[in-house]
Amino acid sequence: TAGGEILVVKDLYKAYGGIVPVRTVSFAISAGKVHALIGPNGAGKTTLLNLLSGHVAPGSGSIRFEGQEIAGWPAHRVASLGIARTFQNLKLFGELSALDNVLLGAHRHIETGFVASLLGLPSSRQAEASARADALALLTDLGLGERAHEPAKGLPYGLQRRLEIARALASKPKLLLLDEPAAGLNPQETHELGEVIRRIQQAGVTVLLIEHHMDLVMGISQHVLVLDYGALIAEGRPEAIRQNPKVIAAYLGAD
Ligand code: ATP
Repeated sequence: TAGGEILVVKDLYKAYGGIVPVRTVSFAISAGKVHALIGPNGAGKTTLLNLLSGHVAPGSGSIRFEGQEIAGWPAHRVASLGIARTFQNLKLFGELSALDNVLLGAHRHIETGFVASLLGLPSSRQAEASARADALALLTDLGLGERAHEPAKGLPYGLQRRLEIARALASKPKLLLLDEPAAGLNPQETHELGEVIRRIQQAGVTVLLIEHHMDLVMGISQHVLVLDYGALIAEGRPEAIRQNPKVIAAYLGAD
């Protein structure tokens, strides 16, 4: 449902002892849009993403994805519904080729084939061939086609980050969560990342990204959420957020 709410978060709360990285946060993610989650270091952005992806269980609150309550679900069940993510630190298999990294990301769509062969199970060559063709097409779409057979660790850092996105997309998610995808990228790579995210949106995938790079946030997102001390202090269109006195005081003013 383009334009409808794909994810609705209500009164989400997470504490670690006396530290409360997420204190009763409520917001909605609209299908088809690019959303940015911004805020100062330690504001709780990664914790919030971890709650959405099932990598951390909430203390309380609700997360509904396409109408289904998923708060507290383990990560693999959340992923199987169509929520994929990347991490702040790369989690690639360096010795494996770019293509094999993508195939590992596609595993929930391959009953047989590559994963089966890794596990020593009988595999269907046809399923494997079609999974490889899909993965190669995805890499080609993201400008990595010519590097598909190179070990991931040999790729320039910017392409490794892009490969992580390719791997997340291989599961054919409806919602893609990106944790600081521009971290460590140079200006040219950051610009290219913006183009990649635009293409992902055009392919119909809803995106939520944590990002400190404000030009990127303002350039590609249609909705910005601002977190400060675990609370949502503002949300709205990027132009409005840029001029919001609360946001300037808490975050943008420090630039
Ligand atoms: P950054 O922009 O620096 O990545 P962030 O906005 O993503 O920051 P979080 O990483 O979510 O912020 O951290 C929010 C707060 O929660 C911090 O004070 C952090 O130390 C604390 N925190 C996060 N995870 C844990 C944990 N597993 N145990 C204890 N405290 C934690």
